[in-house]
Amino acid sequence: MKQLLLIKYSSEIFLKGLNRNKFEKLLKDNIKAALKGLEYTFVTDTGRWFIGAEEVEGIVEKLKKVFGVTEICYVSETEADLDMIKECALKEMNEILSSKTKDYITFKVETNRANKLFRMNSMEVSGEVGGHLLRNTEGLKVDVRNPEYTVNVEIREKAYVFVKRIKGAGGLPYGVNGSTMLMLSGGIDSPVAGYLMARRGVGISCVYYHSHPYTSEKAKDKVKELAGLLKEYTRNITLYVVPFTEIQMQIIEKCPENELTIIMRRFMMRIACRLAEKLDIQSVTTGESIGQVASQTMEGLIVSDDVADRPAFRPLIAMDKVDIMDISRKIGTYETSILPYEDCCTIFVPKHPKTKPKLVDIKKSESVLEFDKLTEEAIENMETFHI
Ligand code: ATP
Ligand code: MG
Repeated sequence: MKQLLLIKYSSEIFLKGLNRNKFEKLLKDNIKAALKGLEYTFVTDTGRWFIGAEEVEGIVEKLKKVFGVTEICYVSETEADLDMIKECALKEMNEILSSKTKDYITFKVETNRANKLFRMNSMEVSGEVGGHLLRNTEGLKVDVRNPEYTVNVEIREKAYVFVKRIKGAGGLPYGVNGSTMLMLSGGIDSPVAGYLMARRGVGISCVYYHSHPYTSEKAKDKVKELAGLLKEYTRNITLYVVPFTEIQMQIIEKCPENELTIIMRRFMMRIACRLAEKLDIQSVTTGESIGQVASQTMEGLIVSDDVADRPAFRPLIAMDKVDIMDISRKIGTYETSILPYEDCCTIFVPKHPKTKPKLVDIKKSESVLEFDKLTEEAIENMETFHI
């Protein structure tokens, strides 16, 4: 039998500044892209979005990863007729009661009547449906303040009844809020940073700095795999793999050992910005978190920000590692992130990195390097993967 799902989306659409039509169109397109290849119908009834299918579980799994969707409700559709609504509600509630493990569960009925031709008002409908449920079941109690279950009745052209619901991914439709170049390493943090930006609707492209042969092909594959996992939340992702060996070699050869990391970070930032400029991408994003490692001090961030010519976002800046790890598990990147392959930063770590670099000192130390030439060469030789 065909099951109907009601798709609820972010109320932030009503905020000033976000254009409602653009938001809805993008969200609809993103939903359709996520469900590509699956059998379903998309119908609307007075502003509500419904997806109908014989087999909904696969669809729900995909919908759970579409940003902007706040809730996915399993709906029974019936005529806008009180007796039929009551029967639907009873059927839905019985299903929930059949798996209850305690003496009683609490509920309330909430009615939304968009169809003003319907002869009763919302309060009356809720009262009638609630009474019907109490009379025909055992183990139900009303709790209007804090119920375990809410029976929703929506009266539109048709009537819809739903109790069972699943939390959506939240956030805003992917692509509604501009674009960023994510510096994606193979670690735990940067995929989470990318996820959080994408969740707020920011389009993601990725750059990975690869130090062949010091970092293996496996390290690159791991980053590709991470980009692939992020793609499940976005519509598509391009990964730019930038050769970084020459730059690192020059830094090691010509700059003070305790400043290697910070000079390298400035190069990463320069290249990300340059690439963003070329590709018309508005910002850059990293997975840095304040105090996490020697290079992620306030002074370190100030020094690397100095070479950025556009906003450099660090969505994890104020998060604890354990919380970042929790998100990483939840979004499915953790298992890949903890694979052992080294990234270029772990190979060239100085024994005593400067934790409080001064911009003037760093600028002086790195002035022996040919930034423009090295940056341009790296970009010229990069590989592009459409994930
Ligand atoms: P992650 O877990 O994301 O690797 P980390 O805690 O290991 O982060 P660092 O190695 O200091 O921290 O890197 C900080 C940030 O710099 C990363 O989150 C990422 O955004 C960027 N970064 C580091 N190495 C690379 C790389 N090889 N390619 C692209 N970006 C990188
Ligand atoms: Mg790292």
